[in-house]
Amino acid sequence: MNMNPKKKYDVIIESPGRINLIGEHVDYSGGHVLPAAIDKKITLSFTKNNTKTCTVYSENFKNHFDIKLDNLKRSDVEWHNYIIGVIFHINVLKPDTIKGFDCTIHSNLPLGSGVSSSAALECGVAKGLNELFDIGLTDLEIITVSKDAEHTFVGTKCGIMDQFAVVKGSKNHLLLLNCETLDHQLIPADFGDYRIILLNTNVSHNLATSEYNVRRDECNTALEAINKKYPQYTLLAQVTPEIIQEFKNILPQKIFNRALYITKENRRTLYAVECLKNKDIKGFGEWLYKSHRGLTSLFEVSCDELDFLVDFTHGLNYVVGARMMGGGFGGCTINIIHKDSCDEFINSISPAYLEKFNINLTPITVAISNGVSKI
Ligand code: ADP
Ligand code: MG
Repeated sequence: MNMNPKKKYDVIIESPGRINLIGEHVDYSGGHVLPAAIDKKITLSFTKNNTKTCTVYSENFKNHFDIKLDNLKRSDVEWHNYIIGVIFHINVLKPDTIKGFDCTIHSNLPLGSGVSSSAALECGVAKGLNELFDIGLTDLEIITVSKDAEHTFVGTKCGIMDQFAVVKGSKNHLLLLNCETLDHQLIPADFGDYRIILLNTNVSHNLATSEYNVRRDECNTALEAINKKYPQYTLLAQVTPEIIQEFKNILPQKIFNRALYITKENRRTLYAVECLKNKDIKGFGEWLYKSHRGLTSLFEVSCDELDFLVDFTHGLNYVVGARMMGGGFGGCTINIIHKDSCDEFINSISPAYLEKFNINLTPITVAISNGVSKI
């Protein structure tokens, strides 16, 4: 009898979800973001099968699919595309390195809740294939093929933050990432007596994917208009809020608001990092609240459930900051709570949410962990 369950597989990969403290929706405009990998993850177990077919089973969907390596094309089933897309893009970069394999996926990450199960899946597949077939991809190539898979096969024009955090995350550190240059610094995740708690609204309004791409287009529209006067800017986050103000009566109100949000949020990330470095947790939390207000009123990606959860924290002196996290229209809020009051917080906000929306709230306590790795 096989006493070591790991032995059945050639390669096992753990691929974490991510949180983002601040710098929301700015990655695709080249802004600064502050994500971290977390202890909730997808586990992917790979075995070579010596055929030309890949068979992938997801325990979450209790379903599998086969894909032939000589006939890689989009599937009608969304989750297949994250995987097929990664195989496709590795093939473009390193032709004929991937052979047939079996893969089983097991996950304790909530899907579609803003903790980036999608990037965890893509990067887990890319890392696993890299190890299984000794392909020699660099971290940056793993990040890029994963992002490209989401663009071309899934159809979400995501930025690079999620994949970057999943691959480059480091235990007890936040990643301050410049999404234009990809320069990044590890910032100690030292919140003193405070803890990070996510609250999953358990709603995912179907606007999430379509509006995501609309926001990207709106940001491009703003940049094109600004470029008529300031052609030197290649990304919206390079522009300052002061310059955006010059366009107040020129840009349509909605486009102006989107641009103002991006430029202010980019600054907020840097201010928030300064607070953290100075051990000013209250100041840090204030930037999170301001970020949420921008996401609600200027960028318009929040929803009633998220706003309710953030508003609820305003009267609580043990909460220093809260905001929606991820693409929006549902998913999680991120909350910075005093360690002695975490239970009290959950016990008061959960019944209030249930009463208001008739939906159960799921609190998720997170620890900051390492990025994708072979175990
Ligand atoms: P998020 O990245 O915030 O979790 P997305 O909508 O971007 O939300 O990605 C969620 C999608 O990723 C799921 O709908 C599914 O297609 C895919 N996915 C995530 N985890 C798994 C899994 N364990 N098995 C199969 N597909 C998964
Ligand atoms: Mg995602």
